[in-house]
Amino acid sequence: MIIVDNLADLREKVSAQKKSGQLAFIPTMGNLHQGHLSLVEHGRKIAKGTIVSIFVNPLQFGAGEDLDSYPRTLARDIELLESVGTDILYTPSVSTMYPKPQDQQTIVDVPGLSTELCGASRPGHFAGVTTVVCKLFNMVQPDLAVFGKKDFQQLMLLRQMVDDLAMPIELHGVDIMREPDGLAMSSRNGYLSTEQREQAARIYAVLQQCRDDLLAGDMLESVIKRGQQTLTDNGFVNDYLEIRKVDDLHKPTNGMTDNLVLLVAAYLGTTRLIDNIEVYR
Ligand code: AMP
Repeated sequence: MIIVDNLADLREKVSAQKKSGQLAFIPTMGNLHQGHLSLVEHGRKIAKGTIVSIFVNPLQFGAGEDLDSYPRTLARDIELLESVGTDILYTPSVSTMYPKPQDQQTIVDVPGLSTELCGASRPGHFAGVTTVVCKLFNMVQPDLAVFGKKDFQQLMLLRQMVDDLAMPIELHGVDIMREPDGLAMSSRNGYLSTEQREQAARIYAVLQQCRDDLLAGDMLESVIKRGQQTLTDNGFVNDYLEIRKVDDLHKPTNGMTDNLVLLVAAYLGTTRLIDNIEVYR
């Protein structure tokens, strides 16, 4: 695996790699787990070469969030990426990504959906995500890019960004990789105490129960109310539990005739967990 940390080396290695065929790009913030590696494996199936970036993006963290404590484990990440046959790893510094002060940085912001769901409780978060992904896309210039459905709203916003700005990149969404007890893998799971880690699996159980209730014909409102109550009963502080249309994340208009996705964000202590489940009939 070739490791580069600046734009000149990146461009040189990418153009050499692209001579052998299409390149798939997997942006990450590091502290890699099997969920990230499944994206690389998907990238290897759909393209000739793979490039992963590791960059903890300050722009997407709000004041009081975990930017400073976010786990940075580069040596182990390199081993894991080599074990799945990654071709190039890009590890830019903050000054490479943002040489200017933040108030002089151009921002890419998708309107509307970026202020709902996770955007409502994390103002500015998605503008940080779309800005860094746009910049990384321009730096790497991949043919394809792979994202996890774990961050369902993020994937939807990135699809809109690529569409609105006519970026010549094909986006792929990959299913959520889960621990054996159902908890979606996440770098933030490492913040949980042993007791919280046991509780945490309930979040997926609640989503599954809500999905089953919807498929059994229960009303949307009562399913959500019951789900919220179960989360509270299990020690979560609920941020949101919502049902949206899977195609555009708009609120459902035709009840169960739409294909739906249930999305949840909830706190265990100070750790914010997100998850989702698609509901198809
Ligand atoms: P992050 O490092 O958290 O920014 O995530 C980088 C990419 O990995 C994003 O596209 C995430 O959606 C994806 N990802 C994170 N966790 C999982 C998971 N459990 N399953 C599948 N993809 C994931």
